[in-house]
Amino acid sequence: MHTLFYGGTVVTAEGMFTADVLVRGERIAAVGVGLPREDAVLVDATGLYLLPGAIDAHTHLECVCSGIATSDDYFTGTRAAACGGVTTVIDYLLQDEDELLPVTLAKRVAMATPKAAVDFAFHIGVRDLSRPELLASLKDAVAAGVSSFKAYMVYDFGLCDGGLYQLLQETAKAGALVTVHAENRGMLDSRVKAYLAEGKTEPWWHYMSRDEAVAAEANRRAIALAKAVGAPLYLVHLTDADGVTAVTQARDEGYPIFAETCPQYLNFTCEVYHEPRGQDYVCSPAIKGKDSQRALWAAIRRGDVQTVATDHCPFTLAEKDYGIRLPDGREGNFTTIPNGCDGIETLYPYMLTQANLGRISFSRAVGVCASNPARLFGLDDRKGAIRAGMDGDIVLYDPKAQGVVKADALHGNLDHTIWENTALSGRITGTWLRGRQVFDGQAFRGAQGEGRFLPCKPVWFDSSALV
Ligand SMILES: [Zn+2]
Repeated sequence: MHTLFYGGTVVTAEGMFTADVLVRGERIAAVGVGLPREDAVLVDATGLYLLPGAIDAHTHLECVCSGIATSDDYFTGTRAAACGGVTTVIDYLLQDEDELLPVTLAKRVAMATPKAAVDFAFHIGVRDLSRPELLASLKDAVAAGVSSFKAYMVYDFGLCDGGLYQLLQETAKAGALVTVHAENRGMLDSRVKAYLAEGKTEPWWHYMSRDEAVAAEANRRAIALAKAVGAPLYLVHLTDADGVTAVTQARDEGYPIFAETCPQYLNFTCEVYHEPRGQDYVCSPAIKGKDSQRALWAAIRRGDVQTVATDHCPFTLAEKDYGIRLPDGREGNFTTIPNGCDGIETLYPYMLTQANLGRISFSRAVGVCASNPARLFGLDDRKGAIRAGMDGDIVLYDPKAQGVVKADALHGNLDHTIWENTALSGRITGTWLRGRQVFDGQAFRGAQGEGRFLPCKPVWFDSSALV
Protein backbone atom coordinates (compact mmCIF):
# COMPACT_ATOMS: atom_id res chain seq x y z
CA MET A 1 0.00 0.00 0.00
CA HIS A 2 1.20 3.53 -0.79
CA THR A 3 0.26 6.64 1.13
CA LEU A 4 0.85 10.20 -0.02
CA PHE A 5 0.78 12.90 2.62
CA TYR A 6 0.37 16.12 0.68
CA GLY A 7 0.46 19.82 1.49
CA GLY A 8 1.94 19.52 4.99
CA THR A 9 5.00 20.93 6.71
CA VAL A 10 7.75 18.40 7.35
CA VAL A 11 9.63 18.85 10.62
CA THR A 12 13.09 17.38 11.02
CA ALA A 13 15.76 17.93 13.66
CA GLU A 14 17.40 20.35 11.21
CA GLY A 15 14.45 22.45 10.07
CA MET A 16 10.93 22.75 8.70
CA PHE A 17 9.82 22.84 5.07
CA THR A 18 6.73 22.32 2.96
CA ALA A 19 6.77 18.98 1.17
CA ASP A 20 4.77 15.90 0.27
CA VAL A 21 5.83 12.57 1.72
CA LEU A 22 5.27 9.34 -0.19
CA VAL A 23 5.35 6.11 1.80
CA ARG A 24 5.54 3.03 -0.36
CA GLY A 25 5.05 -0.22 1.54
CA GLU A 26 6.89 0.15 4.82
CA ARG A 27 9.40 2.81 3.83
CA ILE A 28 9.44 6.47 2.90
CA ALA A 29 9.97 6.49 -0.87
CA ALA A 30 10.21 10.22 -1.49
CA VAL A 31 10.01 13.63 0.16
CA GLY A 32 9.45 16.53 -2.22
CA VAL A 33 7.12 19.08 -3.71
CA GLY A 34 4.32 17.95 -6.03
CA LEU A 35 5.00 14.21 -5.81
CA PRO A 36 2.99 12.05 -8.25
CA ARG A 37 -0.18 10.71 -6.68
CA GLU A 38 0.18 7.29 -8.39
CA ASP A 39 -2.34 4.90 -6.84
CA ALA A 40 -1.60 6.15 -3.34
CA VAL A 41 -4.06 6.62 -0.51
CA LEU A 42 -4.15 10.41 -0.13
CA VAL A 43 -3.82 12.12 3.24
CA ASP A 44 -4.49 15.85 3.18
CA ALA A 45 -1.90 17.39 5.51
CA THR A 46 -2.69 21.02 4.67
CA GLY A 47 -2.09 23.13 7.77
CA LEU A 48 -0.61 20.13 9.59
CA TYR A 49 2.93 19.11 10.52
CA LEU A 50 4.53 15.80 9.59
CA LEU A 51 6.89 14.56 12.26
CA PRO A 52 8.96 11.40 12.51
CA GLY A 53 7.51 8.89 14.98
CA ALA A 54 9.01 9.48 18.42
CA ILE A 55 11.37 7.04 20.12
CA ASP A 56 10.74 6.63 23.82
CA ALA A 57 14.23 5.53 24.84
CA HIS A 58 13.33 4.79 28.46
CA THR A 59 10.41 2.54 29.40
CA HIS A 60 9.69 -0.21 31.93
CA LEU A 61 6.93 -2.31 30.41
CA GLU A 62 5.82 -5.54 32.05
CA CYS A 63 8.52 -4.93 34.61
CA VAL A 64 8.48 -6.18 38.18
CA CYS A 65 9.89 -3.48 40.45
CA SER A 66 10.25 -4.37 44.13
CA GLY A 67 7.75 -7.18 43.73
CA ILE A 68 5.06 -5.14 41.94
CA ALA A 69 4.47 -5.38 38.19
CA THR A 70 4.06 -2.14 36.23
CA SER A 71 0.46 -1.80 35.05
CA ASP A 72 1.33 -1.70 31.33
CA ASP A 73 2.39 -4.84 29.55
CA TYR A 74 4.03 -4.88 26.13
CA PHE A 75 0.63 -4.49 24.46
CA THR A 76 -1.09 -1.81 26.55
CA GLY A 77 2.13 0.20 26.88
CA THR A 78 2.81 0.19 23.16
CA ARG A 79 -0.86 0.86 22.36
CA ALA A 80 -0.57 4.02 24.46
CA ALA A 81 2.74 4.79 22.74
CA ALA A 82 1.15 4.59 19.27
CA CYS A 83 -1.64 6.96 20.36
CA GLY A 84 1.00 9.41 21.59
CA GLY A 85 3.02 9.37 18.37
CA VAL A 86 5.71 7.03 19.71
CA THR A 87 6.53 4.38 17.10
CA THR A 88 9.56 2.87 18.83
CA VAL A 89 10.19 2.08 22.49
CA ILE A 90 13.56 1.13 23.94
CA ASP A 91 12.64 -0.84 27.03
CA TYR A 92 14.86 -1.59 30.02
CA LEU A 93 15.58 -5.22 30.86
CA LEU A 94 17.36 -6.38 33.98
CA GLN A 95 19.83 -9.24 33.94
CA ASP A 96 18.94 -11.98 36.43
CA GLU A 97 21.63 -13.16 38.77
CA ASP A 98 24.24 -15.30 37.06
CA GLU A 99 22.55 -14.84 33.68
CA LEU A 100 24.47 -14.40 30.43
CA LEU A 101 23.35 -11.15 28.78
CA PRO A 102 22.11 -12.65 25.47
CA VAL A 103 19.78 -14.83 27.57
CA THR A 104 18.30 -11.74 29.24
CA LEU A 105 17.60 -10.34 25.77
CA ALA A 106 16.18 -13.52 24.23
CA LYS A 107 13.65 -14.01 27.05
CA ARG A 108 12.22 -10.52 26.63
CA VAL A 109 12.22 -10.53 22.82
CA ALA A 110 10.05 -13.65 23.14
CA MET A 111 7.73 -11.88 25.62
CA ALA A 112 7.35 -8.66 23.65
CA THR A 113 7.08 -10.01 20.09
CA PRO A 114 3.50 -11.35 20.27
CA LYS A 115 2.30 -8.24 22.12
CA ALA A 116 4.03 -5.09 20.93
CA ALA A 117 2.00 -2.67 18.81
CA VAL A 118 5.00 -0.49 17.90
CA ASP A 119 8.62 -1.38 17.16
CA PHE A 120 10.84 -2.09 20.10
CA ALA A 121 14.46 -2.42 21.14
CA PHE A 122 16.16 -3.01 24.47
CA HIS A 123 18.77 -1.77 26.89
CA ILE A 124 20.05 -4.31 29.41
CA GLY A 125 20.53 -3.38 33.07
CA VAL A 126 23.62 -5.20 34.29
CA ARG A 127 23.56 -6.44 37.89
CA ASP A 128 25.85 -9.44 38.12
CA LEU A 129 29.49 -9.40 37.04
CA SER A 130 30.57 -12.01 39.60
CA ARG A 131 31.93 -14.39 36.95
CA PRO A 132 34.19 -13.27 34.07
CA GLU A 133 31.89 -15.05 31.59
CA LEU A 134 29.05 -12.68 32.48
CA LEU A 135 30.97 -9.56 31.45
CA ALA A 136 32.41 -11.38 28.44
CA SER A 137 28.85 -12.16 27.27
CA LEU A 138 28.31 -8.43 26.67
CA LYS A 139 29.84 -8.63 23.17
CA ASP A 140 27.39 -11.45 22.31
CA ALA A 141 24.49 -9.26 23.43
CA VAL A 142 25.87 -6.48 21.20
CA ALA A 143 25.94 -8.93 18.28
CA ALA A 144 22.32 -9.84 19.10
CA GLY A 145 21.21 -6.22 18.85
CA VAL A 146 21.75 -4.42 22.17
CA SER A 147 23.90 -1.30 21.98
CA SER A 148 23.48 0.01 25.54
CA PHE A 149 23.93 -1.37 29.01
CA LYS A 150 22.67 0.22 32.18
CA ALA A 151 24.48 0.56 35.46
CA TYR A 152 22.52 1.40 38.61
CA MET A 153 24.66 3.19 41.19
CA VAL A 154 21.84 2.66 43.72
CA TYR A 155 19.67 -0.27 44.84
CA ASP A 156 20.70 -3.68 46.20
CA PHE A 157 21.26 -4.96 42.70
CA GLY A 158 23.28 -1.92 41.60
CA LEU A 159 26.94 -2.00 40.60
CA CYS A 160 29.73 -0.75 42.82
CA ASP A 161 32.26 1.68 41.31
CA GLY A 162 34.49 -1.25 40.33
CA GLY A 163 31.62 -2.89 38.47
CA LEU A 164 30.77 0.34 36.66
CA TYR A 165 34.45 0.79 35.76
CA GLN A 166 34.65 -2.74 34.29
CA LEU A 167 31.39 -2.23 32.43
CA LEU A 168 32.71 0.99 30.89
CA GLN A 169 35.86 -0.81 29.76
CA GLU A 170 33.94 -3.68 28.18
CA THR A 171 31.37 -1.47 26.44
CA ALA A 172 34.10 0.81 25.06
CA LYS A 173 35.73 -2.26 23.46
CA ALA A 174 32.41 -3.42 22.02
CA GLY A 175 31.36 -0.02 20.66
CA ALA A 176 28.44 0.06 23.08
CA LEU A 177 27.20 2.73 25.46
CA VAL A 178 26.78 2.65 29.24
CA THR A 179 23.63 4.32 30.48
CA VAL A 180 23.78 5.16 34.15
CA HIS A 181 21.30 5.82 36.95
CA ALA A 182 23.43 8.14 39.04
CA GLU A 183 22.59 8.69 42.70
CA ASN A 184 24.81 8.27 45.75
CA ARG A 185 23.71 5.08 47.46
CA GLY A 186 25.43 5.75 50.79
CA MET A 187 23.91 9.19 51.24
CA LEU A 188 20.50 7.92 50.22
CA ASP A 189 20.50 4.91 52.55
CA SER A 190 21.76 6.99 55.50
CA ARG A 191 19.09 9.62 55.03
CA VAL A 192 16.29 7.06 54.66
CA LYS A 193 17.32 5.40 57.90
CA ALA A 194 17.50 8.71 59.75
CA TYR A 195 14.15 10.02 58.46
CA LEU A 196 12.28 6.82 59.26
CA ALA A 197 13.80 6.77 62.76
CA GLU A 198 12.45 10.32 63.21
CA GLY A 199 8.97 9.24 62.06
CA LYS A 200 9.23 11.17 58.78
CA THR A 201 7.21 8.96 56.46
CA GLU A 202 5.42 11.26 53.95
CA PRO A 203 6.26 11.50 50.23
CA TRP A 204 8.18 14.76 50.82
CA TRP A 205 10.93 12.69 52.49
CA HIS A 206 11.33 10.75 49.27
CA TYR A 207 12.60 13.98 47.77
CA MET A 208 14.65 14.91 50.85
CA SER A 209 16.38 11.52 50.84
CA ARG A 210 17.40 11.86 47.19
CA ASP A 211 17.71 15.59 46.59
CA GLU A 212 20.07 17.58 44.34
CA ALA A 213 23.19 16.67 46.36
CA VAL A 214 22.55 12.93 46.11
CA ALA A 215 22.33 13.18 42.33
CA ALA A 216 25.18 15.68 41.93
CA GLU A 217 27.89 13.58 43.56
CA ALA A 218 27.04 10.47 41.56
CA ASN A 219 26.75 12.31 38.23
CA ARG A 220 30.26 13.65 38.66
CA ARG A 221 31.63 10.28 39.78
CA ALA A 222 30.12 8.47 36.79
CA ILE A 223 31.51 11.09 34.41
CA ALA A 224 34.95 10.84 36.05
CA LEU A 225 34.98 7.06 35.57
CA ALA A 226 33.94 7.37 31.91
CA LYS A 227 36.63 9.97 31.30
CA ALA A 228 39.25 7.75 32.94
CA VAL A 229 38.32 4.84 30.67
CA GLY A 230 37.78 6.99 27.58
CA ALA A 231 34.31 5.51 27.21
CA PRO A 232 31.13 7.28 26.13
CA LEU A 233 28.48 7.67 28.82
CA TYR A 234 24.76 8.45 28.81
CA LEU A 235 23.18 9.73 32.02
CA VAL A 236 19.57 8.57 32.16
CA HIS A 237 16.90 10.78 33.70
CA LEU A 238 19.14 13.71 34.58
CA THR A 239 17.32 15.84 37.14
CA ASP A 240 19.62 18.39 38.70
CA ALA A 241 21.34 21.67 37.84
CA ASP A 242 24.77 20.53 38.96
CA GLY A 243 24.46 17.44 36.76
CA VAL A 244 23.72 19.74 33.83
CA THR A 245 26.87 21.73 34.64
CA ALA A 246 28.96 18.55 34.91
CA VAL A 247 27.71 17.19 31.57
CA THR A 248 28.24 20.55 29.88
CA GLN A 249 31.81 20.82 31.20
CA ALA A 250 32.71 17.31 30.08
CA ARG A 251 31.28 17.95 26.62
CA ASP A 252 33.12 21.26 26.37
CA GLU A 253 36.31 19.32 27.13
CA GLY A 254 35.45 17.06 24.18
CA TYR A 255 34.22 13.94 25.98
CA PRO A 256 31.32 11.96 24.50
CA ILE A 257 29.03 12.43 27.50
CA PHE A 258 25.28 12.49 26.82
CA ALA A 259 22.22 13.10 28.95
CA GLU A 260 18.53 12.34 28.94
CA THR A 261 15.83 13.98 31.00
CA CYS A 262 12.12 13.24 31.37
CA PRO A 263 8.98 15.40 31.06
CA GLN A 264 8.16 15.03 34.77
CA TYR A 265 11.44 16.81 35.63
CA LEU A 266 10.68 19.54 33.09
CA ASN A 267 7.10 20.21 34.16
CA PHE A 268 6.91 19.66 37.93
CA THR A 269 9.05 20.61 40.92
CA CYS A 270 9.60 18.87 44.25
CA GLU A 271 6.65 20.85 45.64
CA VAL A 272 4.39 18.14 44.18
CA TYR A 273 5.46 15.88 47.06
CA HIS A 274 3.53 18.18 49.41
CA GLU A 275 0.32 17.63 47.42
CA PRO A 276 -2.46 15.45 48.87
CA ARG A 277 -1.49 12.69 46.43
CA GLY A 278 2.24 13.34 46.51
CA GLN A 279 2.79 9.59 46.31
CA ASP A 280 1.67 9.60 42.67
CA TYR A 281 4.79 11.61 41.74
CA VAL A 282 7.20 9.32 43.53
CA CYS A 283 9.78 8.25 41.00
CA SER A 284 13.54 7.93 41.21
CA PRO A 285 15.45 10.12 40.97
CA ALA A 286 13.01 12.44 42.72
CA ILE A 287 11.70 15.58 40.99
CA LYS A 288 13.94 18.50 41.98
CA GLY A 289 13.56 22.23 42.60
CA LYS A 290 12.90 25.13 40.24
CA ASP A 291 16.60 25.91 39.61
CA SER A 292 17.16 22.41 38.32
CA GLN A 293 14.10 22.59 36.10
CA ARG A 294 15.39 25.83 34.56
CA ALA A 295 18.86 24.34 34.02
CA LEU A 296 17.38 21.31 32.24
CA TRP A 297 15.40 23.48 29.82
CA ALA A 298 18.45 25.64 29.10
CA ALA A 299 20.51 22.48 28.44
CA ILE A 300 17.88 21.16 26.01
CA ARG A 301 17.96 24.46 24.15
CA ARG A 302 21.75 24.47 23.77
CA GLY A 303 22.09 20.72 23.11
CA ASP A 304 23.74 19.61 26.34
CA VAL A 305 20.73 17.39 27.13
CA GLN A 306 20.18 15.42 23.93
CA THR A 307 17.14 13.26 24.64
CA VAL A 308 13.82 13.44 26.44
CA ALA A 309 12.35 10.05 27.32
CA THR A 310 9.72 9.05 29.84
CA ASP A 311 10.96 6.42 32.31
CA HIS A 312 7.36 5.19 31.89
CA CYS A 313 6.85 2.93 34.89
CA PRO A 314 3.15 3.08 35.80
CA PHE A 315 1.52 1.92 39.03
CA THR A 316 -2.15 2.14 39.99
CA LEU A 317 -3.56 4.50 42.64
CA ALA A 318 -4.01 1.54 45.01
CA GLU A 319 -0.36 0.58 44.56
CA LYS A 320 0.77 4.17 45.07
CA ASP A 321 -1.13 4.02 48.38
CA TYR A 322 1.30 1.39 49.66
CA GLY A 323 3.07 4.44 51.04
CA ILE A 324 0.17 4.71 53.49
CA ARG A 325 -0.72 1.06 54.04
CA LEU A 326 0.70 -2.12 52.60
CA PRO A 327 -1.49 -5.01 51.37
CA ASP A 328 -0.55 -7.05 54.46
CA GLY A 329 -1.89 -4.31 56.75
CA ARG A 330 1.46 -2.88 57.83
CA GLU A 331 1.80 0.88 57.84
CA GLY A 332 3.66 2.24 54.81
CA ASN A 333 6.09 5.10 54.33
CA PHE A 334 7.80 6.91 51.46
CA THR A 335 10.07 3.93 50.82
CA THR A 336 7.15 1.52 50.28
CA ILE A 337 5.60 3.55 47.44
CA PRO A 338 6.36 1.83 44.13
CA ASN A 339 8.70 4.15 42.20
CA GLY A 340 7.58 5.35 38.81
CA CYS A 341 5.21 7.55 36.81
CA ASP A 342 3.37 7.28 33.50
CA GLY A 343 4.27 9.32 30.43
CA ILE A 344 4.54 7.22 27.27
CA GLU A 345 1.42 8.73 25.63
CA THR A 346 2.02 12.31 26.77
CA LEU A 347 5.74 12.61 25.91
CA TYR A 348 5.39 13.91 22.34
CA PRO A 349 2.24 16.00 23.01
CA TYR A 350 3.96 17.63 25.99
CA MET A 351 7.22 18.43 24.18
CA LEU A 352 5.36 19.65 21.09
CA THR A 353 3.23 21.85 23.33
CA GLN A 354 6.43 23.44 24.61
CA ALA A 355 7.51 23.99 21.00
CA ASN A 356 4.14 25.50 20.19
CA LEU A 357 4.54 27.86 23.14
CA GLY A 358 7.97 28.91 21.88
CA ARG A 359 10.04 27.41 24.68
CA ILE A 360 12.00 25.29 22.20
CA SER A 361 11.82 24.98 18.43
CA PHE A 362 9.79 22.21 16.76
CA SER A 363 13.07 20.93 15.32
CA ARG A 364 14.53 20.67 18.82
CA ALA A 365 11.43 18.75 19.99
CA VAL A 366 11.90 16.31 17.11
CA GLY A 367 15.63 16.10 17.86
CA VAL A 368 15.26 15.18 21.52
CA CYS A 369 12.26 12.87 21.06
CA ALA A 370 13.21 11.11 17.81
CA SER A 371 16.43 11.87 15.91
CA ASN A 372 18.90 11.97 18.80
CA PRO A 373 17.76 8.73 20.47
CA ALA A 374 17.90 7.06 17.03
CA ARG A 375 21.53 8.18 16.60
CA LEU A 376 22.65 7.42 20.15
CA PHE A 377 21.26 3.90 20.20
CA GLY A 378 22.09 2.91 16.62
CA LEU A 379 18.64 2.99 15.02
CA ASP A 380 19.22 5.94 12.70
CA ASP A 381 19.31 3.91 9.49
CA ARG A 382 15.56 3.25 9.95
CA LYS A 383 14.11 5.56 12.59
CA GLY A 384 13.99 9.13 13.84
CA ALA A 385 13.76 11.16 10.63
CA ILE A 386 11.57 11.83 7.62
CA ARG A 387 13.61 11.17 4.50
CA ALA A 388 13.66 8.66 1.67
CA GLY A 389 14.69 5.19 2.81
CA MET A 390 13.56 5.55 6.40
CA ASP A 391 10.67 3.59 7.91
CA GLY A 392 7.27 5.12 7.22
CA ASP A 393 6.80 6.17 10.85
CA ILE A 394 4.84 9.38 10.50
CA VAL A 395 3.01 11.51 13.03
CA LEU A 396 0.46 14.03 11.84
CA TYR A 397 0.15 17.02 14.15
CA ASP A 398 -2.32 19.89 14.19
CA PRO A 399 -0.53 22.86 15.78
CA LYS A 400 -3.76 24.85 16.16
CA ALA A 401 -5.79 22.37 18.24
CA GLN A 402 -6.10 22.83 22.00
CA GLY A 403 -6.78 20.25 24.66
CA VAL A 404 -6.09 18.90 28.11
CA VAL A 405 -4.82 15.52 29.26
CA LYS A 406 -7.46 13.26 30.80
CA ALA A 407 -6.59 9.83 32.17
CA ASP A 408 -9.89 8.50 30.78
CA ALA A 409 -8.83 9.38 27.24
CA LEU A 410 -5.39 7.72 27.42
CA HIS A 411 -4.83 4.27 25.94
CA GLY A 412 -2.63 2.54 28.49
CA ASN A 413 -3.68 0.42 31.44
CA LEU A 414 -3.68 2.91 34.29
CA ASP A 415 -6.40 4.49 36.44
CA HIS A 416 -4.78 7.93 36.73
CA THR A 417 -2.06 10.10 35.24
CA ILE A 418 0.29 12.64 36.78
CA TRP A 419 -0.51 14.68 33.65
CA GLU A 420 -4.25 15.03 34.45
CA ASN A 421 -5.57 18.43 33.28
CA THR A 422 -2.22 19.51 31.77
CA ALA A 423 -3.04 21.93 28.96
CA LEU A 424 -1.91 20.85 25.51
CA SER A 425 -1.33 23.17 22.64
CA GLY A 426 -1.58 21.22 19.38
CA ARG A 427 -2.78 17.67 18.92
CA ILE A 428 -1.63 14.46 17.27
CA THR A 429 -4.23 13.56 14.66
CA GLY A 430 -2.65 10.38 13.33
CA THR A 431 0.23 7.94 13.71
CA TRP A 432 1.62 5.59 11.05
CA LEU A 433 3.95 2.70 11.81
CA ARG A 434 5.92 1.51 8.78
CA GLY A 435 3.23 2.84 6.49
CA ARG A 436 0.23 1.47 8.40
CA GLN A 437 -2.03 3.79 10.36
CA VAL A 438 -2.07 2.81 14.04
CA PHE A 439 -3.87 5.85 15.50
CA ASP A 440 -6.54 8.03 13.88
CA GLY A 441 -6.60 10.92 16.35
CA GLN A 442 -9.17 9.26 18.59
CA ALA A 443 -8.77 5.51 18.62
CA PHE A 444 -5.99 2.96 18.41
CA ARG A 445 -6.07 1.30 15.01
CA GLY A 446 -3.01 -0.90 15.20
CA ALA A 447 -2.72 -4.47 16.36
CA GLN A 448 -1.08 -6.56 18.98
CA GLY A 449 2.08 -8.17 17.61
CA GLU A 450 2.49 -5.64 14.80
CA GLY A 451 5.63 -4.18 16.41
CA ARG A 452 8.99 -5.72 15.55
CA PHE A 453 12.20 -6.18 17.46
CA LEU A 454 14.82 -3.70 16.21
CA PRO A 455 18.44 -4.70 16.67
CA CYS A 456 20.47 -1.63 17.69
CA LYS A 457 23.82 -1.18 15.96
CA PRO A 458 26.90 -0.37 18.03
CA VAL A 459 27.76 3.31 17.70
CA TRP A 460 31.44 4.23 17.75
CA PHE A 461 31.52 7.55 19.55
CA ASP A 462 34.49 9.78 19.63
CA SER A 463 34.77 13.30 20.87
CA SER A 464 33.73 14.67 17.49
CA ALA A 465 30.50 12.64 17.53
CA LEU A 466 28.64 15.00 19.79
CA VAL A 467 24.96 15.06 18.98
ZN1 LIG B 1 13.97 3.84 34.53
